Amino acid sequence: LDQRLEEPQARDEIYHLTQAFNHLLGRLEQGVKQLKQFVADASHELRTPTSIIEGHANLIKRWAKESPEIMEESLGYITQETVRIKTVTDQLIQLALLEQNEPIFRFESPEVNAIVRTIQLRLVPLHRHVDIQVHELQAPVFAHIPQEYFQQVLLNVLNNAIKYTPEGGNIHIHVSKASDQAIVRVKDTGIGIPPEELSRIFDRFYRVDKSRNRAHGGSGLGLAITKKMLEAFGGTISVESQPRRGSVFEIRVPLLSNVK
Ligand code: ADP
Repeated sequence: LDQRLEEPQARDEIYHLTQAFNHLLGRLEQGVKQLKQFVADASHELRTPTSIIEGHANLIKRWAKESPEIMEESLGYITQETVRIKTVTDQLIQLALLEQNEPIFRFESPEVNAIVRTIQLRLVPLHRHVDIQVHELQAPVFAHIPQEYFQQVLLNVLNNAIKYTPEGGNIHIHVSKASDQAIVRVKDTGIGIPPEELSRIFDRFYRVDKSRNRAHGGSGLGLAITKKMLEAFGGTISVESQPRRGSVFEIRVPLLSNVK
């Protein structure tokens, strides 16, 4: 064996094997690191509302008899934080299913203009502080993605546009078509995103301003789910933004006719 190991070809093989092994080890280490980070983030995300609930439960215990107002107020907080825990756990389950490539919904090849219009009609009465305009394409556009996914993707991006656009701002939704893709652009005149944060907003739990976003009820999971849903069907999402001027999110989904 010693003699065989002296041969240049064997040395070459060992060298390449070691390289491949190191590469694999590196990827494994990275995976473990990401998993640890995920567990830490998820625990933190659920721990905060749990502590708030605990605090208010104690207040109720202490003041229920003497001060019905305190009880009323604390019950309000408890309800609010319970909803938050439910939302985050639902989102985490959804992410886990997407990562296992579980087909959740049945296929319906939605018509993009119609979906965008329906969502606009649904959101306008709820958010009078911004003006939401839709620019449809004349021709119908059928996308290759389950309707529920497409609706949720649009709702996530639009709800963000609404959430991060101050009073008096406007949101324009443009539907268009490339040779093989349906395109929806959501443009807002909101607070924008600093350039150094842009690449991270699709990461799980990433929020540009954690304190502000907690007040907005954001978990930082919406865009991670959105990206996964699109990628599962060959779609993409990208963003351009300027702080204090606004953001443009571009969603692309393969057209039904292009899928073999
Ligand atoms: P969240 O639930 O916190 O909104 P998302 O995953 O949907 O989580 O978004 C991640 C972060 O990206 C948000 O916390 C916010 O800082 C930023 N963001 C997303 N959309 C916009 C937008 N239209 N304008 C400004 N910032 C945005």
